[in-house]
Amino acid sequence: MLKLVFLGPPGAGKGTQAKLLSERRQIAHISTGDMLRAAVKEGSDLGKRVQTIIDAGQLVPDDLIVDLIRERISQSDCERGFILDGFPRTVAQAQALQRMLGERGESLSKVVFFNVRREDIRNRLDHRRGNEARADDSAEVQEERLRIYQEQTAPLIEFYQNLGLLHRLEAGGAIEEVQERLVQSLVDE
Ligand code: AMP
Repeated sequence: MLKLVFLGPPGAGKGTQAKLLSERRQIAHISTGDMLRAAVKEGSDLGKRVQTIIDAGQLVPDDLIVDLIRERISQSDCERGFILDGFPRTVAQAQALQRMLGERGESLSKVVFFNVRREDIRNRLDHRRGNEARADDSAEVQEERLRIYQEQTAPLIEFYQNLGLLHRLEAGGAIEEVQERLVQSLVDE
């Protein structure tokens, strides 16, 4: 069963590649960003709590996001496997995920790190700003998201390297090319 984490900066193409791979392998695509945005749209209690945090490009509290994931991965569409896109984003979240899977007698297959050049990230985020009306894609919030990524999320590269789970994916280039590289890297999984 394929259980993947997609790790990388905002704008690296994780969401796009996760969507394609989840369709190809018939596994669940779990995007915490999408889940939180849906909660905001619904106007649920969770949505109200997280809206200002998301709009500012900051991270919502670990315990909240960990509860959300615990609930989500126990749903039946995850039985064939899943891709976590945008989670974990802090070492505490990664540790919670290890514990959560361990309790279920499960483990991650691989963590795919999307390696992209800084200028490519900026180009993609600028492009997205023009195409999707996401409040958190403004130039200032974009910078904040990149800063927080470096500070809170980049340490996960080493965390997963130490667990022998990290796979570096060259994530620059056309969507189809990247998908092909990704699929090739998972042939044995
Ligand atoms: P994303 O679509 O993955 O870029 O997520 C959009 C926003 O949702 C982020 O900037 C955070 O405010 C919030 N968010 C998504 N995933 C997480 C997470 N794992 N931990 C904390 N905040 C998150």
